[in-house]
Amino acid sequence: MRFILVALSILHATSAFVVPSQQHFLGPSTAVSVRPVAQESTTQLHLFGTLKKIFRKKTQEPVPTGLIDTKKFDKVTEIFPGAKTNSELITYLRAKLVKRGYELDSKTLCATSLCCDEASRPLETQLSNVFDTNFNMGGLAGFPWGGVTSFGAMTAHIPDGGSCVIVHGPHVGVDSAGNVGTVERRGRVNGGACCGSAVAASGYVSPVHAGEQKKATMPQDPVDAQQYFVGSLLMPYAERLEKAEDAMVELPYALYDAQKEMMGKIIKAGSPSDASNSTTSELTTVLGGIQINTPPGRLDFFCH
Ligand SMILES: [Zn+2]
Repeated sequence: MRFILVALSILHATSAFVVPSQQHFLGPSTAVSVRPVAQESTTQLHLFGTLKKIFRKKTQEPVPTGLIDTKKFDKVTEIFPGAKTNSELITYLRAKLVKRGYELDSKTLCATSLCCDEASRPLETQLSNVFDTNFNMGGLAGFPWGGVTSFGAMTAHIPDGGSCVIVHGPHVGVDSAGNVGTVERRGRVNGGACCGSAVAASGYVSPVHAGEQKKATMPQDPVDAQQYFVGSLLMPYAERLEKAEDAMVELPYALYDAQKEMMGKIIKAGSPSDASNSTTSELTTVLGGIQINTPPGRLDFFCH
């Protein structure tokens, strides 16, 4: 097996992505359309509409279900310049992979590392429409809590002669008023934190950094272990958050940097050192960024 690592995006490239010695970065290429859409209306239904359904009409009523997300949301690209809609991201990713020799629907395994939050699922659904299904490495705040074991399992599931693509990132909500770190949710009168894990972690690191609170000790019980580590991994970015103009905007960028480093360690540790007998992957592509969740009725975005 020969692994070639392709990093499709490096946000805040101040911290280097850890790359195993036998892997290589390839530069970006021009996006092209790679697979004709046979039934546009059906595909649009899949690409645009699967999980979040309707735009809330009255602020004092729960967000109902039943309609499809179709509206762009300019506030997102004002706050997160360069963010693509999920569908634009899929088009970009497909073009990149095909140019690098991927056979998308038959020999590519897609692994994701996205938050537990149901708001993270529409992107996975859209990816599954391209790659048939997905392997899930993720957990709270989008960190790859499945670790080296999940990466090793994933690579062992790649179709013979095929490749894999990993899509990972924290997520953040932008509500209809443009507030960051919260979003309206289907069936609820009031929205809430998004990402809840990330906001909770920022609420932990801030007083610890200020010396107002002690660091938490590593839990012996696994019942809330992921959240402990979200806080721990965010701690090195406490000062950056403190100095940020808007900590809720900076938060997903900080988490992305922490996550990118963790993913790099996992890939390095989980890549086989002697893969001469393998029949599987020749390419490993990593697409990292920030998932941006919007109110029901609006398209979600991904900033990479
Ligand atoms: Zn979350």
